[in-house]
Amino acid sequence: MSDQPQAADSADAADADGPEVPVIDLPGDAFDAVLDALDDRDPDEPLRFEGFSVARDDDGGYVLADGGRPEPLTERELHEALSERAAAVTDWYAFERVVGEFGPRRAFLRWIEDADGETVATRYAALAEGIERAWGELKITATITDRGERRYDLRHADDAGVPVDDLETHEDPLGARELVTLDEKGRYRPLKTAPSLAGGWVFPDLGPRDLYETVETIYPATVANWHREREGELDVTHWRETMERQSGIYGVVKTWDRGEGYEHVNWVAEACCDDSQCLKRREWQYDEDTDLDVDGGDGAFPCREPCSVVVSAARKWTRLESEQPRTYEFELTPSEKEQVEDIIDAVADGRTDEIREADTKEGANRYRARFLRAKRFDDEGNLGGVPTDPDAE
Ligand code: SF4
Repeated sequence: MSDQPQAADSADAADADGPEVPVIDLPGDAFDAVLDALDDRDPDEPLRFEGFSVARDDDGGYVLADGGRPEPLTERELHEALSERAAAVTDWYAFERVVGEFGPRRAFLRWIEDADGETVATRYAALAEGIERAWGELKITATITDRGERRYDLRHADDAGVPVDDLETHEDPLGARELVTLDEKGRYRPLKTAPSLAGGWVFPDLGPRDLYETVETIYPATVANWHREREGELDVTHWRETMERQSGIYGVVKTWDRGEGYEHVNWVAEACCDDSQCLKRREWQYDEDTDLDVDGGDGAFPCREPCSVVVSAARKWTRLESEQPRTYEFELTPSEKEQVEDIIDAVADGRTDEIREADTKEGANRYRARFLRAKRFDDEGNLGGVPTDPDAE
């Protein structure tokens, strides 16, 4: 996942000749917003843009300061001056008025174009080419109109480069709800941050607010938690605390807080929270003082507490893990033992569909598995003819 915006030609755009800033027409809305903002301020309290500021003077006129001598202006002259500086004004307008209040939405949209790190000129040049960002399995491409308005193309990363006309187009952020329910094979996706988002669709022309809404619909709370983390305000609820909150049937999970302790929780995290299973970066641990041994992953957005999918799976495992081990005796050839291991690996890694019928070198090949079953299972389905419960013989 890219942590820096990928501007198609940003390096070229910011070469020795300086970035090639697109020509921007100052929209009337942006100019009116500047006048309104100045009206709301005391005279002499400047409104700051990149490279200059504007204030009202005491006589109903305006003063522009750009490092040189402050210049008194009439409203018409102010319009001219701001039209010459339309990039900086529209940048102010985009974030202060269109995007609005401080918070996750604004931080996310500024992050997309690195607005807190790059100049307006560099960003506008990059936006003119298209700035690409990854968010989970999403690809966001930010561009700019000749009025300084941001527009966003949102699609599955696998559909990068596919013409819009070849994809199912959407406009309404709520349309994303139907995209996240099922995976490519039509199976329900209980975990919205699983890397199983189906492609084939595009939101080709979203405004800033709608982009944010759409991303948050596809990956709920990911921007909010990413923002909290950036602000140093991510409130993490660790495993133990989460389990202590479970009641009723979920209370059984608490039994893992006894005896062998957090070893089971390592297995849960390895099974469910690995990057191959979930795009979030797990930040929760066993408890505040006890980190888990497995890596939390590299996702751009954090996971602040065990999710319902994990809690539900853990409940099942807790029941299974309450059983005592038994010794069974089977006969397997060395290849058959390895084949059992191959099958478990293939299922755990979700690779069974990739194994071709003709590939009998692969232990998890369907014919190989059927052969093993035919050879080693009895009529009741017992491996090696050994019943699971010897007392049931
Ligand atoms: S608990 Fe694990 S699987 Fe669930 S959202 Fe967090 S990282 Fe993903």
